[in-house]
Amino acid sequence: MRKSVPPDRRSVRLAEALGCPDCRRPLPDSLRCPGCGVSGSRNGPQIAFAGFSDEELRQDPLNHLKESAKRRFGPLYPLAISLLSPVYMSGSVRSFLRSFDLDRDLVADLGSGTQRYDPRVICVDGGSYANVDLVADLSRLPLRDGVLSGVTSIAVLEHVPDPDAHIAEMWRVLAPGGRLFCYMPFIVPFHASPDDYQRYTKVGLETRFRNFEVLDVRVGGGPTSGLLWVLQEWLALALSFGSERLYRALVPLMWVLSPLKILDAVMARHPAAPVIASGFVIEARKVGP
Ligand SMILES: [Zn+2]
Repeated sequence: MRKSVPPDRRSVRLAEALGCPDCRRPLPDSLRCPGCGVSGSRNGPQIAFAGFSDEELRQDPLNHLKESAKRRFGPLYPLAISLLSPVYMSGSVRSFLRSFDLDRDLVADLGSGTQRYDPRVICVDGGSYANVDLVADLSRLPLRDGVLSGVTSIAVLEHVPDPDAHIAEMWRVLAPGGRLFCYMPFIVPFHASPDDYQRYTKVGLETRFRNFEVLDVRVGGGPTSGLLWVLQEWLALALSFGSERLYRALVPLMWVLSPLKILDAVMARHPAAPVIASGFVIEARKVGP
């Protein structure tokens, strides 16, 4: 059974883990670094160091809509996406979290968006959504070295220009023996959040985490999901006769095909599924100091 922990306990644990994003010194209550003067701010229980500007989040027209929906619907947004999206993902994030004693082990979800998997997990994001505990640049975390037992990063690294810098930060903030869970798309159309930079094959993802001990790399979103999302975009393109406005209006109508994703409950297990899988999960451990 999941234990509920009052939010102040989470804030206390986060405060103990905070460190200057520049010089790594522990941060006092004032959130101002005694070494280099970098400072953060507080908005209720939320701590902010850096993050996306509203302008960045609104550059892409579709992302602008997504941002409005995230702010309006909060935790209902990821629920709606899991129902409407063409991607069928197994619930393996939760089983990864169950492998920790979250009353003792500090775990952070880097790029949480409006999702909170467990009241004891620290939500970190570039956007200041209501559930986010720490608003920060994920490649420059305001956390001390080795303070985390676990890290999750779900469909985040395609949206950053420098994934290696983000992975190096995961390494730095994890304690030796600490584990990470990362989902990264492969066959997926362009989708800005606030932008979109890359995809990885199974071996490509594994290579990015070569400094870690890789525990498992597997299909996280199956081949039907990969096909459906591309097909939905293709149909909207083909039926909009060169009009971007019509294309945008048609995309949501194509979500009617999304329930076919259930085929991935079987197809994702095919040994050749990685050829057109929608995405991969990697679980890895930090070894050494
Ligand atoms: Zn400093």
